[in-house]
Amino acid sequence: MDRPLRIAILGSTGSIGQQTLDVVRRYPQQLSVVALAAHQNESLLLEQVRAFRPRVACLTGRREWNVTYQGTRFLWGAEALTEVVTLPEVDIVVAAMSGNDGFRPLIEAIRAGKQIALANKESLVMAGTLVTQEADRAGCSLRPVDSEHSAIWQCLQGEERDAIASLSLTASGGPFRTWSTMELAMATPEQALRHPTWSMGQKITIDSATLINKGLEIIEAHWLFRIPYSQIHVLIHPQSVVHSFVQFRDGSLKAQLGTPDMRLPIAYALSWPERWDMVAPPVDLVQVQALSFSAPDEDRFPLLRLARAAGEWGGTAPTVLCAADEVAVQAFLGGRLSWWQLHEVVEKVVMRLGTREAPSLEDILEADRASRSYASELVEHFSRHAVR
Ligand code: NDP
Ligand code: MG
Repeated sequence: MDRPLRIAILGSTGSIGQQTLDVVRRYPQQLSVVALAAHQNESLLLEQVRAFRPRVACLTGRREWNVTYQGTRFLWGAEALTEVVTLPEVDIVVAAMSGNDGFRPLIEAIRAGKQIALANKESLVMAGTLVTQEADRAGCSLRPVDSEHSAIWQCLQGEERDAIASLSLTASGGPFRTWSTMELAMATPEQALRHPTWSMGQKITIDSATLINKGLEIIEAHWLFRIPYSQIHVLIHPQSVVHSFVQFRDGSLKAQLGTPDMRLPIAYALSWPERWDMVAPPVDLVQVQALSFSAPDEDRFPLLRLARAAGEWGGTAPTVLCAADEVAVQAFLGGRLSWWQLHEVVEKVVMRLGTREAPSLEDILEADRASRSYASELVEHFSRHAVR
């Protein structure tokens, strides 16, 4: 590349956002930051502005934001993300904000012809048809940042789609991999936030503990690689060294391995089709000693089963699932729901709201709204009748 790739990061103050900036710091010839956006964390965003001097900085959680810094324009409010993702200077948008709010700016970035490094799986889960249609229309490739999908993407380089027999997503199993159903009833947010192998934002860490994250990743893989659900499998792999693999029709299996370090998939999404030197230390297989795999237990982790079903159901079912989960996870983190109540809220909302086929943008936004509203009602009900 003769000039640096110019990037905009949505969610720059989060776990993925900060690791993306870490990659930028280490590859200054290859990358330059044009825009940074976050929601509320003003102090960290300002620190990032001073370090990276972007043209634009945006805080979506503000009604106004009166700061000045030479060379940077300051924007506020969710609407300002439109300007961030459509800036003519931006080549690639790193979609690293959390939650369903990532959907609108993602669509706008695609329509503006930007390349996308996609971490925000929620937007693909909630509106897979629309996002992929828009991406096809714009000739935009969605470059996965999620480690499993990056692994599959790497395994598929140079391969024909019809040579694929199946995809297998690996899951660490989270902090509760060996807990019984009874023990899970007492699980606290602090315990759920103690992920054994990855350090991530709170929402995805809880999602990894319930395994709904892996279910969302099944849906994400379905849309990214256009593979039927029946050909997407999940395997528990506690070491998190094999990041996923592809089974080919001839009987060969290709896997991608590495240390569990998100800077690897982030850098690959930015460097593709090249690879940069020494992004992360190579994995030491002698030290790892053994790699183990087992089937997930969907009785102890029922949201994995539910998420797959919602994906297969299609239409707005995944939208409803995702929105209900967001509400339930926040309530669990806030101590308003117990572990199994979190599950009950998501299940009840998905069952009650069902699906709407071939949804329009309005249908998706309406399903998202209805799901949040019903989930909040249930949270309210549970916390009013809490016997804990
Ligand atoms: P974090 O919670 O650490 O960070 C979220 C980021 O998004 C913060 O910068 C936050 O800003 C910003 N944000 C939240 N809401 C808004 C909004 N409405 N408008 C603008 N910015 C917003 O999350 P993660 O970095 O862990 O995850 C980000 C995404 O990446 C998620 O979709 C997750 O599923 C996905 N992902 C994450 C992985 C990881 O290892 N962390 C792995 C694979 C996927 P502020 O801090 O100011 O509130
Ligand atoms: Mg993942």
